[in-house]
Amino acid sequence: MRKTKILCTLGPATESPEVIAELIAKGADVMRLNMSHASHDWVRMVYARVREAAAATKREIAVLMDLTGPSIRTGDVEQPWQLQVGDVVEFRCRPEASPSTPYSVTVNYPDLGKDLKAGDVIMVDGGMIQIKATEVTQKHVTGTVLTKGEMKSRRHINLPGIPVRLPPLTQKDYADLDLGVELGVDYFALSFAREPGHIQHLQLLIEQKRSKARVIAKIENKQALDNIDALVESSGGIMIARGDLGSEMPIEDLPLIQRQIVERCSYHGRKVIVATQMLESMIENPVPTRAEVTDIFNAVIEQVDCVMLSGETSVGRYATKCVEVLHTVISRIEKKYPSGRFASDAPLKTNKHKTVKAAIALANSIEGSKLLVFTLRGVMAHLLAHQRPEFAPIFAFTPNLHVSRTLVTARGVHPFVLSFEEGNPEKSIREALDILRRDNFIKPGDPLVILSDALYDGVNVDAILLREA
Ligand code: PEP
Repeated sequence: MRKTKILCTLGPATESPEVIAELIAKGADVMRLNMSHASHDWVRMVYARVREAAAATKREIAVLMDLTGPSIRTGDVEQPWQLQVGDVVEFRCRPEASPSTPYSVTVNYPDLGKDLKAGDVIMVDGGMIQIKATEVTQKHVTGTVLTKGEMKSRRHINLPGIPVRLPPLTQKDYADLDLGVELGVDYFALSFAREPGHIQHLQLLIEQKRSKARVIAKIENKQALDNIDALVESSGGIMIARGDLGSEMPIEDLPLIQRQIVERCSYHGRKVIVATQMLESMIENPVPTRAEVTDIFNAVIEQVDCVMLSGETSVGRYATKCVEVLHTVISRIEKKYPSGRFASDAPLKTNKHKTVKAAIALANSIEGSKLLVFTLRGVMAHLLAHQRPEFAPIFAFTPNLHVSRTLVTARGVHPFVLSFEEGNPEKSIREALDILRRDNFIKPGDPLVILSDALYDGVNVDAILLREA
């Protein structure tokens, strides 16, 4: 009955059918395919394995394809550079330009010299190496090393606080998108989303390709934070990409930014995923640090929908153990602290919102109650989750497989596929209760608050029923 969902990034450490099955058995809800590191053949292979493993457990698992987006990267260096403070480094914005210093590398962003000015700081490799620009032309940027470090090939570059004019998607993203649509992934995450137009562009492409997948906006820099309300509203949800955010923004602002984004998502009724370094130390060690456990506590108290594991499960030594730790820690915290507060100021824009709120008020006031929702498109179930019932779990029934999979990401929702017989709502309710009894989710006498906009086909009545299991 854990409410906060667990998202795992798949990688070499977790690609085998056995390990994927173990991740699911330990509590993974969503699998992430990180296109920055995955070939199409590999994605096809693990996607099939995820679907097979999920089918064997009869649990719905959502798949999220994370598109690389337009990140700025250096080109190749022949040998890793051991940079010292004061060394001079040149970034060449044109591949054909010849080097003018011993430490000279190309970048994949031709406008670097247009966006930067002397004095700006360039963060290489997640901020491990910081370089201060001293000379900027359209063809190259030269800078002085501020923090020493080793620089290898194809390193990620962040430009803290500097608006960039990168496109929303690259050629690689378009090819990856086609693959995701072909496979039937449930979510696409758009890296480096900065404007609502970027989300709308991707969502439109997805619809044109006849996919029903939703877009998650990854918030990674100041440009995105400046547009946060519009980005939240235009997307299906937000990923707080703390890795890049930690390089792009002052590190001391990161907890404040996380809190602000969670609040905006809860206000607008959108999903929110907290990502990166949740259990970083467990990439190498079998137990988490005290600080990591407290970070999980914070995310659960903020009532986020999902917490995400990246390197911990893609390359880590203790991938399945990480899921176990998340499951145990989250469950412990949720038992002690109810939900509710964060969604309390969300506006009730429509009568559907008000009906959902009424059902939640009813469930909150009856001890031990459970919420059941019958939904065709998932709207009512997503609304229920966004308004954060205090204790009651949400069991969502839908005839649509894709809808049930998208509901996996929603806080507190346990989705099931169930066909509805037109004009026979009682039959659907009976069948739903049979499923819940079979899986030990309910016992006789449990108070049930049943919410539906789907059981009376043709008339489309929003209804709340109160009965006992
Ligand atoms: C992040 O920066 O925190 C993140 C999740 O993005 P990526 O893993 O793509 O770097």
